[in-house]
Amino acid sequence: MRLPGRDSTELAIKVIHLLRKATKKMTQPAVSQIVAKYGRDFFLILISCLLSLRTKDTISLPISLILFQYARTPKELLKIPLKRLEKIIYSIGFYRKKARLLHSVSRDIITRFGGKVPNTLKELLSIRGVGQKTANVVLAEGFRIPAIAVDTHVHRIANRLGLVKTKTPEQTERELRKIIPKRYWIELNPLLVMWGQNICEPISPRCSQCVIAQFCPRIGVTRSR
Ligand code: SF4
Repeated sequence: MRLPGRDSTELAIKVIHLLRKATKKMTQPAVSQIVAKYGRDFFLILISCLLSLRTKDTISLPISLILFQYARTPKELLKIPLKRLEKIIYSIGFYRKKARLLHSVSRDIITRFGGKVPNTLKELLSIRGVGQKTANVVLAEGFRIPAIAVDTHVHRIANRLGLVKTKTPEQTERELRKIIPKRYWIELNPLLVMWGQNICEPISPRCSQCVIAQFCPRIGVTRSR
């Protein structure tokens, strides 16, 4: 559901243009940094995304970089024994679960997709442990296929701005797809992630420093700086 009385598409485009400029000097999200370092390697994007689930970029990025010193293909990752893999990613939350996940995803990619990460939402979602957000990040950041990856930052900021009025990231993705032209889909996630990490923070957003404040009704914000 969207809020009535405002042109959501126009607002979204204005926000995107302003955030392009305002985020230029900000630290890129972890996945973008992986792309900057290794290029569009679909497997590395997928693995770094899985490692970042429910974990801050500041923790998941260094662990991804360490892991990629040991393995950069599904085959190489499977060669690392589970216990050893757990040790490598130990400082990440849910490291045991994630180590098992990395193995099962690698196995799946080898047995079902000939060792190559698939490039459709349907196939990506058929890999156990790959959810909607991860699949969309792989499509957008890896294959450059228009997709809106909705994580906690995108969901929160879209609702605060009144672009959508939704309860879950899945609903947010559906609504954003209706109002945002396709040519903006890929960049939406990194822009809002950077804004969410630096300005529109979850508990007390920095509204006084926000370049999109003039367009923001700050829906649901009770405390701000
Ligand atoms: S004005 Fe405040 S609530 Fe709105 S986007 Fe900016 S930081 Fe977030």
